[in-house]
Amino acid sequence: MIHFVGAGPGAPDLITLRGKSYLEQADVIIYAGSLVNPALLEYAKEGCQVYNSATMTLDEVIEVMDAAEKDGKTTVRLHTGDPAIYGAIREQIDRLDALGYEHDVTPGVSSAFGTAAALQAEYTLPNVSQSVIFTRMEGRTPMPPKQSIEEFAAHHATMVIFLSAGMLDTLSAQLIAGGYEPETPAALVYKATWPDQKVVRGTVAELAEMGAENNITKTALTVVGWCLGNDYELSRLYADDFSTEFRKAKHS
Ligand code: SAH
Repeated sequence: MIHFVGAGPGAPDLITLRGKSYLEQADVIIYAGSLVNPALLEYAKEGCQVYNSATMTLDEVIEVMDAAEKDGKTTVRLHTGDPAIYGAIREQIDRLDALGYEHDVTPGVSSAFGTAAALQAEYTLPNVSQSVIFTRMEGRTPMPPKQSIEEFAAHHATMVIFLSAGMLDTLSAQLIAGGYEPETPAALVYKATWPDQKVVRGTVAELAEMGAENNITKTALTVVGWCLGNDYELSRLYADDFSTEFRKAKHS
């Protein structure tokens, strides 16, 4: 059995109870060493074989899983944040299916939410943004058509931008070219939930200098949108003239 497990954004106590229990049972752990907090490996039992996937190819990862399956062992594939976001799990799952091995996925707290917590932000503020776009800039992985930063910026939704902290000057220019006003609030969160977390607030126009002044070039998310500003409407859910399934309106 192969368990794909979300490690959470960094702080070791942000893994789920299920994820921790799989780590404790695992005979083999393959962890994404570039971003997973190694403190999580302390949950591994004695004799557990531990591999860092940062130095491995897909074929090598599959070989380790294949050998473990042939020995009847349990493997945990530990991915940073939530495995569904830039986790490259699909290519592993397809290979495991071809080999006929069982697998499941345990979700994790994405760094998108570790970052929201660090900012104490609500991404979906009433009348400001009711949608969140998780995206990235084009790097070695090309962006599919109709998914450029400019095209997304036109929506004025909350944007959480991964894998782009090394290209903040271009990011800022593309956001503005797409229609975000230069003064739109923006934040840069480095290593959300880790002890050396940094939170920098500013505007879309200031992103490059926010990064440069704080030496942030990787392991950071950029959040953009007026949800980081101060104008919004109170939610209908808690309004006193609003009835819900659980609560009658106090007045209409
Ligand atoms: N599956 C992960 C994302 C993997 S992509 C998740 O759900 O969080 C790797 C990118 O995620 C990094 O380049 C960075 O942009 C972001 N990232 C991962 N951990 C982070 C953290 N603790 N704080 C800020 N950004 C982080």
